[in-house]
Amino acid sequence: MSDLFSVKDKVVHVSGGSRGIGRAIAEAFAAAGARVVVSAREEESLRATGLAYEVCDVTDAAAVERCAASIEQRFGRIDVLFNVAGINFRHAAETFPPDRLQAILDVNVKGNYMMASACGRRMVAQGHGKVVNIASLHTLQSLAGVSAYGMSKGAIGSMTRALAVEWAAHNVQVNAIAPGFIVTDLNRKLWDDPKMRGWVEARTPSHRLGRPSDLIGISIFLASSASDFVTGQVIAADGGFTSGSTWPLEVPR
Ligand code: NDP
Repeated sequence: MSDLFSVKDKVVHVSGGSRGIGRAIAEAFAAAGARVVVSAREEESLRATGLAYEVCDVTDAAAVERCAASIEQRFGRIDVLFNVAGINFRHAAETFPPDRLQAILDVNVKGNYMMASACGRRMVAQGHGKVVNIASLHTLQSLAGVSAYGMSKGAIGSMTRALAVEWAAHNVQVNAIAPGFIVTDLNRKLWDDPKMRGWVEARTPSHRLGRPSDLIGISIFLASSASDFVTGQVIAADGGFTSGSTWPLEVPR
């Protein structure tokens, strides 16, 4: 029982681990005794984490392969992959710029798929592994003005189930976390707007925005042997946002 949630000595790769959600996951796993490698495009922010790192743009197939091979060479195996790299751009669907659409699909869908494939191949060969994809509340429902991102996060749900089914017999579990609204560099400006903040606080049953640290518990669960019979699941960590709303109805108590 005491080892059920242990990630000690596990080799954990956090792709998109230099900032925000990925960095919080990477730091928590390092504190829990895991051997953590973060990757992203910008070397300076990777170095600032103080963790082992690889420079890797997930849209570059050769770079993804080099990254996975280098981690395997340096650490002997890859036990866990967190697929966190992601970008967003909000625009009306009827005039969505094609280059932005391509960029979102390249990073969020193709890039994460290629990283899962490169790390998953090694997990299949070693006979164990955990892939944890970062989906979104957009995987489960939609918000106006975010169609391309929403579509890409829908694909993360499909990818999670497809890889889970394909790799289950090899003892590789693939799951996804669907975070709600988590304040990071990706969206800090948006949540500084009192109108937006008021909306999210009223609409979310927990009545608050999320923090990257809100995702640590579910991350540990999905990376540890506690989740060995859980695969292909998209688990929301969103303060109840996708479960429903509270409303100003007075009920007898
Ligand atoms: P940040 O912008 O803070 O961090 C994004 C990370 O991804 C950085 O490390 C960035 O580093 C990396 N990245 C971006 N593009 C690439 C690329 N082409 N190749 C490799 N790495 C890349 O975002 P968040 O922490 O907020 O978001 C992380 C993930 O969580 C995303 O997938 C996002 O969609 C998802 N998410 C976020 C929510 C939120 O409310 N914040 C809610 C739901 C989901 P660099 O730029 O140096 O490459």
